[in-house]
Amino acid sequence: MNCQICQGLITPMKKGDTELLKCKGCDGFWIKRGALNRLIKHKAGDLEFSSIDHHMHHDTHGIMKCVFCEDQAMIKINFINESRIILDYCEECGAFWIDNGEVEKMQNYVDKIEANNEKTTILEVIFKTLLNLPKI
Ligand SMILES: [Zn+2]
Ligand SMILES: [Zn+2]
Repeated sequence: MNCQICQGLITPMKKGDTELLKCKGCDGFWIKRGALNRLIKHKAGDLEFSSIDHHMHHDTHGIMKCVFCEDQAMIKINFINESRIILDYCEECGAFWIDNGEVEKMQNYVDKIEANNEKTTILEVIFKTLLNLPKI
């Protein structure tokens, strides 16, 4: 099997307990439903579900066809809706095509969101404490 983007050879491999079909040419890879939630470390929530949208997104390459489904055209989705990290997603089987470098981008994005959420929580705590201070 050859890569739809660079014609490189696609070979099965493992990253931790996740099975990838990886291209030796461009280092992009295919993963099945559920794998994105294991590849990107996050505290809570379904990263895959929260990324599915039906808007038009520009990407560095055209529409791909899912390797797991016969000729199923994939859609472009925006990771967690507003990250501007554009992924290829198969609506039929839930598979993703991940370009080289996108895992790192997604991880950074998730880390940033979670760090910001923690700050918000701390601010809320301070605010509530201030509100509950005895009035002078
Ligand atoms: Zn490739
Ligand atoms: Zn598919």
